[in-house]
Amino acid sequence: MGRLPKRFVRREAAKVVDRLIEASLKAVSKDQALGENYLDKARRVCERYRIRKPPLLRRLYCRRCKRPIFPGRTSKFRIRRGRGKHLSITCLLCGSVTRIPLDRPKQGV
Ligand SMILES: [Zn+2]
Repeated sequence: MGRLPKRFVRREAAKVVDRLIEASLKAVSKDQALGENYLDKARRVCERYRIRKPPLLRRLYCRRCKRPIFPGRTSKFRIRRGRGKHLSITCLLCGSVTRIPLDRPKQGV
């Protein structure tokens, strides 16, 4: 990998991460362990190449218990309109709730 420009490598790595997340979400409906496996790989690729974790990837991990959480299985996603529209993610493993504001899409993710 040393011969390739870093920017190129990172762009390719980001694509791999996207694909792994996609594969993970698909796999989880049949095999949760496999889904978690893909997600873990995606996280490791990010760390290895020091690329920013996509917001989606971060939402698929619980902040408190650090385990992968999947919408409809181990987490609940709800759009709420309290003080500003936000997405609330409840981890069904530890019960913690993460709120993500949706009004300012560039922030809070
Ligand atoms: Zn949790």
